[in-house]
Amino acid sequence: ALLGNKLQKKPIIWTISGADCSGGAGIAADIKTGHNLNVEVCHLITANTVQNSSELIAVNPTQVEILALQVQALRFDKPPAVIKIGLIANREQINWLIDMLSEIKSQLPNLLVVYDPVGRASVGGCLSSLPNSVLAPLMPLVDVITPNFIEAKQLCTLTTTSSVNDTRFMAEKILRLGCKAVIIKGGHNATEKPNDNNTHCTDVCLQSLSPTSSQLFTLQSPKINTSYSHGSGCSFASALASFLAHNYLLRDAFTLTKAFINQGLLLATEVKNDISDDMRDD
Ligand code: PLP
Repeated sequence: ALLGNKLQKKPIIWTISGADCSGGAGIAADIKTGHNLNVEVCHLITANTVQNSSELIAVNPTQVEILALQVQALRFDKPPAVIKIGLIANREQINWLIDMLSEIKSQLPNLLVVYDPVGRASVGGCLSSLPNSVLAPLMPLVDVITPNFIEAKQLCTLTTTSSVNDTRFMAEKILRLGCKAVIIKGGHNATEKPNDNNTHCTDVCLQSLSPTSSQLFTLQSPKINTSYSHGSGCSFASALASFLAHNYLLRDAFTLTKAFINQGLLLATEVKNDISDDMRDD
């Protein structure tokens, strides 16, 4: 059903994130992922960034008036099943986003919101710095938040050097901010070494079931040591948004997303290695 019938109407996702002119992260990752997973992607670009594989050079935020016009243009024409949010470039954008999501969620009760909190570019450099107090009113509008290990510590107001490495503890703290579920990606958790020979990557999903109970899903896989991970966080959130748009339950969407990202990281590494081998042969 997911990839087979091309005539079947594709679900629509909106991605509200930044443009990376080097093509790997942000909107480019969202469109490529959505195309692979058979969803239609409408893209509202929050910032035009200038970057390459060695540095972030500039970030030019979009005016909220333009974003508001885009929502108006798409609202009835291409209503979303899921909205994926990535880079929010400044306070004006977050205030606009809170108002927009409150309104559209009241009109589309089944709409889901996936938020990937983006602060730093993977090449280094600050894309956006919004304090937790400014993000707080967004949280109750978010169905799934997908921080990496470092972003999770920041959301919990733990410092990045804090010795607290209990992912479940962090996930519980993040749920208390008001979102319905959190997935903490373990790829940036340098402390995770179950034994001396193997380094693993554990992703943790905590879903709120009621004000007093929650359910935990954990997925562990061998860590893929690759330098070709630029855009993998964006792709993770947009793959999750795509699977949710195809009506998968969160736990299943989480499993499929982890498999999709692992495969992408492996293939990227193999392709680059093949190219390097070919060049050595010449
Ligand atoms: N969004 C934009 C526009 C970016 O440039 C980046 C990284 O450089 C990100 C998001 C986050 O990227 P990643 O998926 O590598 O975490």
